[in-house]
Amino acid sequence: MNNLLSKLLNKAVVNRSISSHPMCSVVNLTHLSFADDIVVFTDGSPASLNGILAVFQEFARMSRLRITMAKSTVFAAGRGKLVLEAAAGAAGLSVSALPIYLGLPLTTKTMIHNDYEPLLVKIQNRLLISESLWGKWVRQLCCEMSPFGTLGRAQQCTLKKREDEYGRDFSASATWELICTRRPTVPWSKLVWFAQGVPRYSFITWLAIRDRLSTGSRMRAWGQVQCCLLCGEPDETRDHLFFACPYTYTLWLQVIDSLLQPAPSP
Ligand SMILES: [Zn+2]
Repeated sequence: MNNLLSKLLNKAVVNRSISSHPMCSVVNLTHLSFADDIVVFTDGSPASLNGILAVFQEFARMSRLRITMAKSTVFAAGRGKLVLEAAAGAAGLSVSALPIYLGLPLTTKTMIHNDYEPLLVKIQNRLLISESLWGKWVRQLCCEMSPFGTLGRAQQCTLKKREDEYGRDFSASATWELICTRRPTVPWSKLVWFAQGVPRYSFITWLAIRDRLSTGSRMRAWGQVQCCLLCGEPDETRDHLFFACPYTYTLWLQVIDSLLQPAPSP
């Protein structure tokens, strides 16, 4: 759908119902989109604002997806600022200063240390509490470094072969051996990982055994509602999906039936 909106905006610039931002016209940049956010750049005239609103209406008509004016904001700068802000207010749009987006301030000046430090601190804190391999690596080898020293140190760490011994080339297996924590082999490991196993099936089986599949019951904790797509059961747990679901149950019966059938006579 974003693709449709992109095409409509580009077409509106070609048709001159939206005029380009002076800094964007050379590279033909009309907008940027990330996930479900979109930033449209114009010359800041009320005519261009009307052009954008017309594109949004056209998009809603074609896709049945309406862009909420209450969640849209106009960021104006320069000579026509007041006129544009008045037009935005009349159209029901809020007006604001350039925001902080994904942790970084959108600014017209070159960013300085203070601008991106909060984001670096946030990333570092996230890595420090992460239980992932990457998080452990950062905790073990980089956490004492300042955000600006991390890169040089990180490069050195990946070259680390043993304590106080550094190689000239990076080796993924040597780094893995260095930082992984060995645990006892589980009794079911050969059920999942074996020479003829298809990796994607082995991986899904492994996730199922560890109960780490993205089932409805687990996704509820992340704010996503999903019931069983096969029978409508609201509590879609791993055990439901693989055993208790009526659909799965009939599949199991068919598998057992075919296994127990007498072998066809030659
Ligand atoms: Zn079900």
